[in-house]
Order: sequence, then structure tokens, then C-alpha cells
Amino acid sequence: MKVYLDYNATAPIREETRRAMEPLLFGAIEAGAFGNASSIHWAGREARKHLERARTKIAELVQRKPSEIVFTSGATEADNLALRGILAKSSARRLIISAVEHPAVIETAAFLEREGVEVDRVAVDAEGRLDLAALDRALSRPAALISIMAVNNETGVISPIEEVLDRAKKAGVLTHVDAVQAAGRIPLPLDADLISLSAHKVGGPKGIGALITRATLPIEPLLFGGPQERGHRGGTEAVPLAAGFAAALEKALADRDQENTRLAAIRERIDRGLAAIEGVRVLGANARRVANTTTALFSGVEAETLLHALDLEGVAASSGSACASGSLEPSHVLLAMGVPKNEALSAVRFSLGWASRIDDANRLIEVLPPLVRRARGG
Ligand code: PLP
Repeated sequence: MKVYLDYNATAPIREETRRAMEPLLFGAIEAGAFGNASSIHWAGREARKHLERARTKIAELVQRKPSEIVFTSGATEADNLALRGILAKSSARRLIISAVEHPAVIETAAFLEREGVEVDRVAVDAEGRLDLAALDRALSRPAALISIMAVNNETGVISPIEEVLDRAKKAGVLTHVDAVQAAGRIPLPLDADLISLSAHKVGGPKGIGALITRATLPIEPLLFGGPQERGHRGGTEAVPLAAGFAAALEKALADRDQENTRLAAIRERIDRGLAAIEGVRVLGANARRVANTTTALFSGVEAETLLHALDLEGVAASSGSACASGSLEPSHVLLAMGVPKNEALSAVRFSLGWASRIDDANRLIEVLPPLVRRARGG
């Protein structure tokens, strides 16, 4: 039996996504959807129609104008575009992020720091909750931008985004929210100036995401080339991916409440199974968390060992952020939460999504206890 418990890394493609993309990928030549959306002929016009339909759908879902949706290759690019694009045009050479952002933000901030930008990293507490006093201190001096994620990809802990947006607005600081792990799980932070989204986390195709902007915001492009995406990003538009993205996002947002109820019950089964194993601690258990994620520390166990053992049983889980998997570096998120280095290396994340079933949780908690015993050398 194959059990997939790694939705925070990526999700399987939804049926709605396939239906939206298939005609654009495999339609008849005469239908023209294969065209270059910038061409003036019938095929180009057909492709453009589908591209703008996808853009308009996403704009409706995030309550913006279609002209404020910039398609990117994913959220990594959207995060890069937000931070680098805004800082390049701003006279304030200061950026505020949190200590637990995704590497797409952390590493972009580190790059900007090397370029002379002052970067403030707001701390979190032991539960992964943003330190609001530290936030206020950071916002007490001028900054070009504050970038805070809506939901942490490693722990599922929900950020107090309304407070962040409110305080940043009062301080006159532009706001960017990486909402990748929020889409379909909590309401999107629509009041943010800039929002990053990724299609493949909501059951859309890999290779597309979006930066939601405001028409009035000056942003320096990352990719120079043609005038596509209103000059924000050169390059031939990925029309089938855009259509798949719009369909997946629509479904994910529409199903949010019922999925939260359904997934909470599955996660509850996992959490109860974890609680029955000695020396296991769920991270952020006392914080507000999304319903789909549980990350636990397995005392005396190396996460890599446990993940390989789970994999042999057909269970796919993760040791935190996908990008960090395979390396033995402890997660910066867990270190920021005050987890000691050796314990951080024992963290395993289980994350659920649209195709998860209660049987997945049952199988996990059936195979897990003996694997943990064995990983502890027992
Ligand atoms: N931001 C967060 C919070 C994520 O979880 C991820 C993916 O792991 C990304 C950004 C990067 O998204 P993409 O894979 O679309 O580049």
C-alpha cells in the first residue's frame, strides 16, 4: 500500500486540473490553443484567450484586477520577484522578514543583505508563533517591505497575518505574504500588497505560480525580455499551466471548509497514534495550526533513518522543508523555535491533502511504532 503524507512538498494533480489542461496541451492544431499568446494570428489569439481566462479567474479568487496577477514559474520566483523587485525600486534599504520563512525568502533576503540591504529577522517563540513585540520594534524604523508567510510549511503554524498587515500599514511599510501553504486551508491574506502563490501545492501543475501585486507598485523585473506579464516577466507564457493553476486554485478555495473538517479528523488519528509512542512531541501543538500538518520530534531517532524505513513500507513523509531533505542540516525553522540541533534532526513532517484518506493515517500508525523502536536500536 502506498501512503502519501507529503502534501506540503507537493500535491497530486486534481481531476479539475487535468480537464483544464488537456485540451490546451493536446488539442487539434486547427483549434490553435498551442499558439504563442503574444502572436497576432488566430492561434496566438486562441492561446491568449485561455491565458487571460485563467488570469481573470485567479484575479476573481484573490479579489484583484487581472492586470495585478503576474504569472511566474512558481512561488520561489514570486518570492524573489517580490523582495528583489520592490527593494530595487525603493529608497529605503531595509527589509523585514521572520526567522521561519521558506528558503525562497530567507535566501533572497541573504542575497539582498550581501548587496547592502539591512535585513531584520523577527523571532518566533517555542511554538513557532511570531513575536509581536519584536515585530513592533522592527516596524518602528523605516523599511521598504515586510515579508511574512501566512502558514509555515514545516510546522503548519498560522501567522497572525491580520496583525502584521495592520501594524505594517500603520508604519507605512509595504507587505508581502507568502501564502503558498495557506491556499485552501485558511482565508487568503487579501489585504497584503503582494501575495505569492504556487500551483502545485493546491493540486495544480508544477512550474507555475503567481505574484499578486497592486497596479500602483513599482517592481523591477527579475527576467528581462519581451513585454509579457505587463513588463513584469519576459518569456513566452505557459498557457496550459496557467489554466491548470486557475482550475486547481478555484477547487482548493471552494473546498476549504469541508476539507479542513475532513483532514482534521485524519490528522487527529495521526496525532493520537503519535501520542501513544513514547518520546514523541508534536511541534506547535499549542499554536494555531492548519488542519493538514503535523510535525513531530522523535527523541533518539534520526529523521533520515525513520523516513527511509517509512519509505520501505510505502509511506512518504518528509523531514521538514522539501529543499532541506537529503541534507543533514537541521531546519532553520526548528532552530528558530529553540529546538536543540540534535532534536531538530529527529523531526518528521506528515502533511495531508485533497486525496488523503483515513486509511492513510491508519496505515501510518500501524507501521510507525515498530519502525521507531528499530530506529532507536531497540
Ligand atoms: N513558499 C513556501 C511556504 C513553500 O512551502 C514553498 C514550497 O515548498 C515555496 C514557497 C516554493 O514554491 P515553489 O515550489 O512553487 O517554488
